Amino acid sequence: MTPSRCAKIVATLGPVTTTEGTIEALAKAGADVFRLNFSHGTHAEHERRLQAVRHVEKRVGRPLAVLADLQGPKLRVGAFMGGHAKLVVGQAFRLDMSPELGDATRVCLPHPDIFRALEPGAELMLDDGKLRLRVDSVQDGVAVTRVLTGGMLSDNKGVNVPNVVLPISALTDKDRRDLDFALSIGVDWVALSFVQRPEDVAEIRKTVAGRAAIISKLEKPSALDHLGEIIDLSDAIMVARGDLGVEVPPETVPIVQKRIIRACRTAGKPVVVATQMLESMIQAPAPTRAEASDVATAVYDGADAVMLSAETSVGEHPVAAVSIMDRILLRVEEDDHYRKIVETGRGDPENSAADAICAAARQVARTLGAAAIVTFTSSGFTTLRAARERPRVPILCFTPSRQVARRMALVWGVHGASCAELTDDTDMVAKAASLASAEGFAGSGQRLVIIAGVPFGRPGTTNMLRISWVD
Ligand code: PGA
Ligand code: MN
Repeated sequence: MTPSRCAKIVATLGPVTTTEGTIEALAKAGADVFRLNFSHGTHAEHERRLQAVRHVEKRVGRPLAVLADLQGPKLRVGAFMGGHAKLVVGQAFRLDMSPELGDATRVCLPHPDIFRALEPGAELMLDDGKLRLRVDSVQDGVAVTRVLTGGMLSDNKGVNVPNVVLPISALTDKDRRDLDFALSIGVDWVALSFVQRPEDVAEIRKTVAGRAAIISKLEKPSALDHLGEIIDLSDAIMVARGDLGVEVPPETVPIVQKRIIRACRTAGKPVVVATQMLESMIQAPAPTRAEASDVATAVYDGADAVMLSAETSVGEHPVAAVSIMDRILLRVEEDDHYRKIVETGRGDPENSAADAICAAARQVARTLGAAAIVTFTSSGFTTLRAARERPRVPILCFTPSRQVARRMALVWGVHGASCAELTDDTDMVAKAASLASAEGFAGSGQRLVIIAGVPFGRPGTTNMLRISWVD
């Protein structure tokens, strides 16, 4: 029988993970979701990687999801004479809109809207927070700042403005082009960077129009002020600790991580913990013990998935990084203490037929020692509600939509597969048994707990719980 790991692994593809052979090795080592990072690379490169994942999927025998991660409104300074300049503590430094090359006294910040949102006293973090500036005065297109933390600043480094809600959409023109392209090649998930407000998610949802599921990346403190609404509007959430860790102090990151995961578990939305998880493996063949502990902690916290970025996109040991992550997850899931935490973190079912049935299914599966919970679904909604229950047995998502089956690769405890539309009860029981055994989740004589909605094929009708046997 397929050993099933509940927590999932997202691997970012990049220059070192381009060929079908390497991507197959990542999948076999345990990667479930493949992230195309639109901050880097060309459309042609992303498309080649997506095609490779689709080919590999046929060989690994489980659905693999492809996630397009949009860059979002990442602010950057312009270029310097000689490529860099040294900013000295206590000195004045000007940000303006002039396209001339910068020096130790000024540089271009080519984002006119930002100047309107800045106020004296606001702090800017440059190059992932390595340098800090405080705004003294600001007028149309010019901000005079004081250097709080100095150092070398080079061309096009990132700028973060924590605690300021920027009057910009989370979708830039580049993002719109990337999004159109990503949807045209058929990605399963789309991630939106630097979400600040619920409206940002509503906007992308309108454009995507159901063609992919949406992940909101939480990396701005302002998003945390609207956490509940943003979660409600999103299909999943990412704790994007890279930029978040620049915008909030390091000691706040673990608290925010736990708060976001708790809120997602209550809402029943999948949540991914991202960035620097096995950072030292960009060079080293094994992780530090602190990194192993960080990956495990994310799972103990209740994450659906953990993510690798540079480790698998530009690192020297991409396959080893996935393997070690897989081992860490499996080890946590064997721990009784983990099971206890999972149980105590479970929210009450909401007042809906789907929740009532999913809660009952978990209980029935446990009482009868069933092999799996089988959900028949067209949108994946019932499966997500079943996953919210965190049952002890695998959740199978049988759906006529191949894309829905693939999306489930991100979700805790779920294994997806596509199947034809159900015709009647007898067909349902027969398909549950044949698919569950074909996928390696149940053997002869074992019981299945089936959840479905009648009439079949109509979304939002979850109203049936059926216990059946595999012959
Ligand atoms: P990024 O997002 O890698 O696209 O910046 C993740 C993060 O900020 O943690
Ligand atoms: Mn980011």
